[in-house]
Amino acid sequence: MRKPFWWLVIGVVWAVGGCGDGAPSVSTPGVNSTPILPPVAAATDAAPTFVSTPTQTAVPPRRGEELLGESWEGRPITTHWFGNGHRKVVLVGNIHGGTEQNTHRLALEMITHFEEHLEEVPSDVTLWIIPTANPDGLAHGTRSNARGVDLNRNAYNDADSCAENDWVSDTHITEGIIEGGGGERPFSEVETQLLRDFLDDAQVAIFYHSMAGMIFVTSCADHPPSAELGRRLSEASGYAFAKEGWGSYPVTGAMVDYLAYRGVAAAEVELTNKVDTELDRNLDGVRAVMESVDEIVSSL
Ligand SMILES: [Zn+2]
Repeated sequence: MRKPFWWLVIGVVWAVGGCGDGAPSVSTPGVNSTPILPPVAAATDAAPTFVSTPTQTAVPPRRGEELLGESWEGRPITTHWFGNGHRKVVLVGNIHGGTEQNTHRLALEMITHFEEHLEEVPSDVTLWIIPTANPDGLAHGTRSNARGVDLNRNAYNDADSCAENDWVSDTHITEGIIEGGGGERPFSEVETQLLRDFLDDAQVAIFYHSMAGMIFVTSCADHPPSAELGRRLSEASGYAFAKEGWGSYPVTGAMVDYLAYRGVAAAEVELTNKVDTELDRNLDGVRAVMESVDEIVSSL
């Protein structure tokens, strides 16, 4: 994890000034209300009480924001992080830009939630939330990035054991075929390069989409940690787990397939419509995943 030192400074300021629950509780020296104690015992009770003062130590920061890079048109792609654990859990909002803008709002709402509830991040986890992986598409109201490339069809998937998910240039959506929707070559786009590099050492990656109302993992059925991630997410959030994958049209160059091949447990959560963020059920899902990262990554 790259955490520049200025986050340490900010974190210390935040940790020292941000909350009051670090102060020790000081109990009042006992006032003995029982009148039958002999005078000697009463004198002992009145002995001075020493209260230790907490030592001022540098508290490592537990939250921050980091610039991952810029989109094709120069918009920032940022991530907010929470906690200090060695398990890297990443939530990616809005890879499909303006046509799935509710996933951007969901990610922002999750950031606000964890800013107020840092205690929900287990000690072995650092939670990373990317509000939008496709800021140009969000700005232009398009599913693709500014170069007309679908960022969830641009990954290199030729090395896994499935042929049907391999990267192709012309891609499918519900309305038909998008010429060049996969980009010029795998990972041709600055946004997918950035995601690929940032997620390479993650244990868990969850991408938010709308609006199939289901959970998907790799269509190449050889990565048990991803299947276990999908199962646990489904159980906690109530979205159905589509174990058989997306049946409507071929999905090529998808990020979850690439990540599963790389050993990262990866899933897509599809919200049920294009408007609502469905925050509560998605928080349930994220909390369940954060509590079970070890079981997920060790699934066989
Ligand atoms: Zn999508």
